[in-house]
Amino acid sequence: MTHATATRVQTYIGDPVSEKPPVAPAKLEEIFKDIQSDLRYDHELNGCLNCGICTATCPAAHYYDFSPREIVQLLWTENLEGIYDAMQEKIWACAQCYTCAARCPFGNSPGGLVMLMRETAIKHGMQSAKNVLRPFSRVMLKLISTGNQLSPDMINKDHFADWGPNISKVDAPLKVLRNAIPMPTLNTTATAWEVNLKTSVELYTIWEETGVLKQLETVDENLFDVISDIMDEKREDWKDFLADQEDAKDE
Ligand code: SF4
Ligand code: SF4
Repeated sequence: MTHATATRVQTYIGDPVSEKPPVAPAKLEEIFKDIQSDLRYDHELNGCLNCGICTATCPAAHYYDFSPREIVQLLWTENLEGIYDAMQEKIWACAQCYTCAARCPFGNSPGGLVMLMRETAIKHGMQSAKNVLRPFSRVMLKLISTGNQLSPDMINKDHFADWGPNISKVDAPLKVLRNAIPMPTLNTTATAWEVNLKTSVELYTIWEETGVLKQLETVDENLFDVISDIMDEKREDWKDFLADQEDAKDE
């Protein structure tokens, strides 16, 4: 006769008197498998001495409750609950500078492992990923609609409140400064430079084929809908442009 090790409630919503995360073990396992099955995983993690050299040289560790040594140890010891916990906040503190990878005596890349964990957090639509990526929705929208990640008109005190009074140094004379640039394509503050329609349409294909748009749909469905509409319009414009070219040849 077999005995269940946990009640149905404990399995699906966790034990209310436990400090453990209310996540089903199967889900924790699935998340870890997703991280571990990435082709980069075995290149980024070769073992760990727990020496702490990575944390000693990590700029993020100086300012946040974050330690690359801890992240690597969680993965190396397959601490599934700890991995899940770290994905709620800590992994987003990494600056992706890869100083850790240059210093680790084991040839690990803690920064690379953090990247795998972030990608997995997005894939699973974790709230931490949604929170962290929300401020970038403006950048994504700009990228899709103009081909530029950032344009001069995005650098203003409304969008960069954390810059404090220094923001006035860049946003005040921006139009004048841009108009002074000799290249006409840069005499604008709405785009950083001009990206042609063909390049934009090719970028859409790359984002679709590499799964970027699928990831976006997971973390921000509204933004995904807006972006899909823009892409459809631009693709139609591109088709019209090609048709016009054909007509011109026939004339
Ligand atoms: S890549 Fe991340 S973990 Fe590594 S040193 Fe830079 S901030 Fe720290
Ligand atoms: S990841 Fe490398 S540097 Fe960091 S604690 Fe482990 S062995 Fe040391």
